[in-house]
Amino acid sequence: MADVYLSPTSVIRYETCPAQQQFYRQGWRVDYLSDTLHFGNSAHQALEAFHMADPYGRTVDLPQRFTDAFLEPTRTTTVRYGNGRDKESLLETGLVLMRLYPQVWQQTGFHALIDGAGPLVERKYRVRIAGAGVVLVAKIDVAVLDDSGRVILIDHKTPGQEHDPDFTARSDQILAYQAIFEAHADEHGVDRIDGVGIHPLVRRKVSTTGRGKGPTVNPPDIIERRSDTDVALYLEKVCDIASDIRAGRAHKRPLHEHNSPCSMCDYARACQYGDFTDLVNIKSPPDAKAEENQLAVA
Ligand code: SF4
Repeated sequence: MADVYLSPTSVIRYETCPAQQQFYRQGWRVDYLSDTLHFGNSAHQALEAFHMADPYGRTVDLPQRFTDAFLEPTRTTTVRYGNGRDKESLLETGLVLMRLYPQVWQQTGFHALIDGAGPLVERKYRVRIAGAGVVLVAKIDVAVLDDSGRVILIDHKTPGQEHDPDFTARSDQILAYQAIFEAHADEHGVDRIDGVGIHPLVRRKVSTTGRGKGPTVNPPDIIERRSDTDVALYLEKVCDIASDIRAGRAHKRPLHEHNSPCSMCDYARACQYGDFTDLVNIKSPPDAKAEENQLAVA
């Protein structure tokens, strides 16, 4: 039985629409970067540098790091800007967020945990679910210690609107990080974590009229560690999804018109018309074919 590798994001993609997840696993991608993804990636790169330096009392020029990351890929990759957004306004928003971030972070009293390889920042983990042929993979933004010695996992987000605090306790992604990190906790000298949270950097436009809130860095939204039952139910779901993928079950899930994922789907033309002209395949054709076969017969 071949292992199925899943990330928390790919689990969500499967739940959104199994057919969409199959296109993705076959290697199909749009040949541009969405502006929101590009913005988030740039913020993550800058914050990674910040958190690698912060536990040693060193500082980094966050606005400059963000600018470098934001401008560099646009020289080689097309970035597609959404309604009402452009390169200049997003860069301006990013610079405000990067100027605000260090002060908000200092007020938390958090510092990244450190092991022999350095701060636990953007660390990659793999966890095999015993007997299920499933490997969960994840990269965790930063694992921190608070003033009382509590271990907390933080995930940075750059939403376009205000963060919904109720969502943190519902988030499968945050729950998955808890499960995956705790499977490696003894490597870091801890038994388990105490809390998980989302740190929202709200990507609002800078106001030109003096009205409106503009970009804000909220305090991290931290919740207590989720229960072992929540973790068990999540892992059960992951195993069920892996079974579906292994069996080649990839049904379309367009839902109703009012809640359909199709309008946001990169594969809408391929799905509806068999038209792949706006997509590229990052796997060579033989590899893509091999995975199709493997999924069909396993
Ligand atoms: S267009 Fe809709 S049904 Fe088709 S793959 Fe995308 S989300 Fe699924």
